[in-house]
Amino acid sequence: MTTIYSFQTAGRIIAGNDSLRELKNHLSILGDVKKAAIITTPFFETSSFIELIGEQLTGADISYEVLAEIQPEPTVGHIEDVFASLSGQSFDLLIGLGGGSALDAAKILSVMSTNDLPLRDLIGTDKVEKEGIPTILIPTTSGTGSEVTPNAIVTVPEAELKEGVVSRYLLPSLVILDPVLTLTLPPNITAATGMDAFTHSFESFISTKANPISDMFAMESMRLISRSIITACEEGSNLEARHDMLMGSAYGGMALTSAGTAAVHALAYPLGGKFHIPHGEANSMLLPHVTRVNLDAIQERMALIAKEIGVLTSREASSAEAAEALITQIEEWTKRLNIPQNLKVFGIKEEDVEDLATAASKVTRLLNNNPKELTIADMQGIYRKLLK
Ligand code: NAD
Repeated sequence: MTTIYSFQTAGRIIAGNDSLRELKNHLSILGDVKKAAIITTPFFETSSFIELIGEQLTGADISYEVLAEIQPEPTVGHIEDVFASLSGQSFDLLIGLGGGSALDAAKILSVMSTNDLPLRDLIGTDKVEKEGIPTILIPTTSGTGSEVTPNAIVTVPEAELKEGVVSRYLLPSLVILDPVLTLTLPPNITAATGMDAFTHSFESFISTKANPISDMFAMESMRLISRSIITACEEGSNLEARHDMLMGSAYGGMALTSAGTAAVHALAYPLGGKFHIPHGEANSMLLPHVTRVNLDAIQERMALIAKEIGVLTSREASSAEAAEALITQIEEWTKRLNIPQNLKVFGIKEEDVEDLATAASKVTRLLNNNPKELTIADMQGIYRKLLK
């Protein structure tokens, strides 16, 4: 565990069922805003949520446009195209509505608007020089926690990898966590994004940068997600379960902001960048296998999680038994939630393993947080386990 630690999050968070209706009461914190753009995906273009946001903006004398063209897991080129379509329109507020893809796009567009630099030059840590235009982020998946992180992820096709823009200037002014917006999320996306959130918290908890602040958010996040992920997937209209998942996901984002994710995410990036495997599915598939490789370094911490989320079968269980029970629980979730268990489903073959491991080994920003140093052979071994 690290000794000096820090934490930073969104300017203001409003949470709770129907909290989207409260937007109008918080617009004043954004200063003198005249024109907003709502950045979202085609799914929300004609939704009642856009109408509800629009009515509240109009009531505050803010004109707005809707840009409902964000693609899942956006590429650098796609975001540049969207930026070009915004140019010359002098927006002074961006509202991201959607899953991590829409929220990350809004975050990046905000800083591209004020930093005279191409997106590729913003990729990396602290490359953004100036504050962006203010953002409001409204998540509709319970997974990435992007609404509270200083990160935005883009797919870089030529590197066949996903990369992060990491800057405090990506943190939004306002976040609305309204579980009602997640009720339409289909079971498969609820499952993959929910396991993504669990992975954020798990990796933050075992990160070399784990600290008392990140531990608090990570543990509460895992507690909420573990008690509600099955219900949220199998009974999508259950608002209590949706509430747990959305808060669990935001807490996961807070945990990773302070402690960082680790090898699961590093190995997931080439699966997303080259084979377009949805981020949450890639993380879920990798989690048990990476955990087994890390096991001797994290057994005690895993026992703490197992105890907190109630997967222990006996009070006298040793740390080793507790850690094993936790891995079994994770495997059972992914099976019950129909998350693929094998990379072959995505067209990946044995001959791809070397390139995947080489690409993952370059994600040093996250591998440095892993509790154990992973060799290229370790990484190849993990991918191979998913090809059996
Ligand atoms: P997503 O945003 O790509 O959305 C997946 C699909 O779900 C889309 O088709 C979307 O339209 C649909 N959808 C979203 N909300 C819905 C709802 N309420 N009802 C019905 N359909 C809905 O998925 P995601 O997993 O939230 O985000 C993935 C992206 O976020 C990836 O690019 C990933 O790398 C990135 N990410 C970012 C961070 C961060 O901190 N910034 C962290 C993890 C992942």
